[in-house]
Amino acid sequence: MYPGQRSSDKGAPALSVNAPRGPSDWRLGLTDIDQTPWATFSRYAVAILSVVAALFASKASVEYLNIEPYVSLFLCAIMFAAWFGGLGPGLVSTALAGLAFEYFVASPMNSFEIDAHQIPRLSLFVITALFVNWIAAAQRKATRSLELSRRDLLAGLERQKRTEARLMRSEMYLAEAQRLSQTGSFGWTVTTGDISWSEQTYRIFECDPATTPTLEFVLQRMHPEDREFVQQILEQASRDGVDFDHEARLVMPGGAVKYIRALAHAVKDGPDGLEFIGAVTDLTAAKQAEAALNDAHADLAHATRVITLGELTSSIAHEVNQPLAAIMSNGEACLRWLDRGAAGLEQARRSVEWIVKDVSRAADVIGRVRALARKTDSERSLFDVNEVVNEARMLMRRELSSKQITLRTELATDPLIVRADRVQLQQVVINLVMNGIEAMQPVTDRPRELLIRSQRSFDADQAILIMADCGVGFSDEHAERLFTAFFTTKSTGLGLGLSICRSIVEAHGGKLSACRNAGPGATFQFTLPLHEDVGRAQ
Ligand code: ADP
Repeated sequence: MYPGQRSSDKGAPALSVNAPRGPSDWRLGLTDIDQTPWATFSRYAVAILSVVAALFASKASVEYLNIEPYVSLFLCAIMFAAWFGGLGPGLVSTALAGLAFEYFVASPMNSFEIDAHQIPRLSLFVITALFVNWIAAAQRKATRSLELSRRDLLAGLERQKRTEARLMRSEMYLAEAQRLSQTGSFGWTVTTGDISWSEQTYRIFECDPATTPTLEFVLQRMHPEDREFVQQILEQASRDGVDFDHEARLVMPGGAVKYIRALAHAVKDGPDGLEFIGAVTDLTAAKQAEAALNDAHADLAHATRVITLGELTSSIAHEVNQPLAAIMSNGEACLRWLDRGAAGLEQARRSVEWIVKDVSRAADVIGRVRALARKTDSERSLFDVNEVVNEARMLMRRELSSKQITLRTELATDPLIVRADRVQLQQVVINLVMNGIEAMQPVTDRPRELLIRSQRSFDADQAILIMADCGVGFSDEHAERLFTAFFTTKSTGLGLGLSICRSIVEAHGGKLSACRNAGPGATFQFTLPLHEDVGRAQ
């Protein structure tokens, strides 16, 4: 039994049109059984028996009571035969009763000879018998048609009851489906302003089902930031009679925010003019799950960034150490120039300027490392992709030289401006360079060279960054799994770098792909949409 189904619906005994409806049906011979040969035979048999019974009863009355009730008993027998069996059996009983009357009652008795004087008597009997027969048969016919009408009525009522039950059941299914899918339906007649909602729509809007929904109420429930745009959509839809489909936020009386999607189809030839039939889906749970997934993803990306930074510690320390050493020697030189008095002032000043430059170089490195290590929300800004390449190169300089890798850059001469999260993009470049470095580590028979090239796409709407190494490369079998999370061929690898890089690039509207080089090694490349104004201006 489905939820909400009433027990009375379950297996309700259905009246069958063919089933006998009561004892009167048997007596009246109105069931379908009376159409069978056996029923026909029994009707005629009853007609004959009723005349025979009337004859015996009359003879017994003559014998024991000294009265002659032939006529009345024969008429009773005819009436019974016609009532029970209809016109045919009634006529048979009339014929039999007429013969019995002629034989036993009309003189000469116990003979079929017809005395001329008895003809009127016999005729009167036959006419009366026929009349009784006709009345009984007519009454039977009327009763029968009455019964048939009653049966039709009952069948109609039964059909209606079944249709109502089906309708009620499908309404319940619909309500249950709406509740499960968090989707309510609505109708909106633009000319009259009438709005009708399903139960679930009332539930989504947290509105008392006894109230009549209005457009004002709908707009009042909208989040203040979405109200105007929803109003514009509804105005345009009602003006132009076009379908609409939009997402918006609702603010509930308690302050809770719900995310909904409303879509509707315009029916222009409705009885009341333009009408919209649509559905409202509560997306709150889906949005919350999406936000949780994004958070988890951001946490994972942050964790892998920190791991990569850990791997780069010695390079970073070296990058900071270099300016510190320079600061130290410039400071000492400055002191020496100052000892010389006024003559050394100019050189002392130059030493201080170098100190300032080195301090800013060290601060730059520390700032970049802090930005990579910090966990911040994604923040997009406009910048040149080439700058990111140079920043990554600076952080990885030591790593590259310690592994005897030459980094060659062929960067586009004009800036490739993109709107992106700078830190995330640095993470992608550093990850790809680190993978290239690791892939080239086993190489001993050729120079280890990593090429980074930036360029504009053929139709000038994408920035392309290509990283080609001459390392061990990857097999065809592995090619399909490179970007799958946790796929790694390294003993200490996590297998998360490439999958995170791909999701970062895709979140920016770009694509990350890998291919094997014609010679040794692999090439990774990603695209990013160029910022429109700059992209077109170039
Ligand atoms: P991890 O570096 O932790 O293994 P990644 O997702 O960064 O995780 O890389 C997954 C796998 O892809 C690596 O284990 C390696 O097999 C392959 N791979 C990545 N970059 C390269 C490359 N430049 N050359 C050859 N194989 C690579």
